[in-house]
Amino acid sequence: MNRQRLLRTFMDLLKIESPSGREGRISRYIASILRDCGFSIRKDKAGEGFGGKCGNMVGTQRGGDTSLPTLIFVSHVDTVVPNKGLEIVFDGKTIKTDGMTILGADDKAGVAVMCELARVLSQRWFRHGPVELLFSVAEEPGLLGLKNLDFSMLSGESALVLDSHTRVGSIVTSAPSAVAITATVRGKAAHAGIEPEKGVSSIVIASAAIASMRIGRIDEESTANIGVIKGGKATNIVPQETVVKGEARSFSEKKLQRQIAHMKEQFTKHAKSRGGKVKIETSREFTTFAIERQDPIVRLAAAAARGIGRRPSLLKSCGGSDANVLNQKGIPSVILGMGYKNPHTEREFIRVASLYAAAEWAVEIVRQSPRFLA
Ligand SMILES: [Zn+2]
Repeated sequence: MNRQRLLRTFMDLLKIESPSGREGRISRYIASILRDCGFSIRKDKAGEGFGGKCGNMVGTQRGGDTSLPTLIFVSHVDTVVPNKGLEIVFDGKTIKTDGMTILGADDKAGVAVMCELARVLSQRWFRHGPVELLFSVAEEPGLLGLKNLDFSMLSGESALVLDSHTRVGSIVTSAPSAVAITATVRGKAAHAGIEPEKGVSSIVIASAAIASMRIGRIDEESTANIGVIKGGKATNIVPQETVVKGEARSFSEKKLQRQIAHMKEQFTKHAKSRGGKVKIETSREFTTFAIERQDPIVRLAAAAARGIGRRPSLLKSCGGSDANVLNQKGIPSVILGMGYKNPHTEREFIRVASLYAAAEWAVEIVRQSPRFLA
């Protein structure tokens, strides 16, 4: 592991703007590193599936011992916004921005670690199976890259997703399911001053439904939220249409279905009792997974953490990630802590010590993999 080289690559990556759907430039930067390291590169057409300009990319190392199982590493190359005009502030210990943009360590820390891993594997010899490096696109807007991934590019049996804001050494082994819900409430427009009695207020219906709804933390496994509400045109019109968007999450599918049914019921009930109508659409965002602590991929990640002097800890996440899609496709996958803090905010930062430790961890995982995966 070469710290200067890793840090330089990370800084380069941060400076390349890569909002979801426009990952062409950053993908080309990564591809040139992979090529220099003797990796073969494949790209899919995932972008076409969601209106993006770029597909996912898999770099495969030639020369791994093919009698050993193939290991997959994953990071996403897109970031949330605002990222334009990024100014890096680095005091020798901590990397952050000037406070005007996000940093993008989520997930360029993971991307930089995978680039460094490629370089280490091309220079140092130790016995290990083939390594596949998957750089995904459009993770942030809802795992769109992986949902459109050409899975024939992958042959690995288990994966490590380098994309958790938790400390280096923590291993996320489970995450919830999530369902998004959109309710379009329809009332009846009328002049609010002249003949309000002829109107049916969609805002009143939506408010009554939301006020009677269980939201927030539902139980120790489930949460729900109403996140967007849009309705009405002017103060003198009884509002005809109001659109409400929300979501529910749970580690239990049964509880998730129950919560969604409850939310639907409140909208339907209040629309009916007040003379309005409601159209409800739901869509699956991601599906829960739970990897056992005895699973070889968990044992490998934990042993490698100990190998670099970090205490491993197993955690549950409440967010979705590429690991949800991989697990659903039957590829056991855990998410590793990269140590970046305050992701998705202008206060995002990462300590260089975390970046270095994350790269050492990835190399150690490959080094120890024959013991656990063979
Ligand atoms: Zn991320």
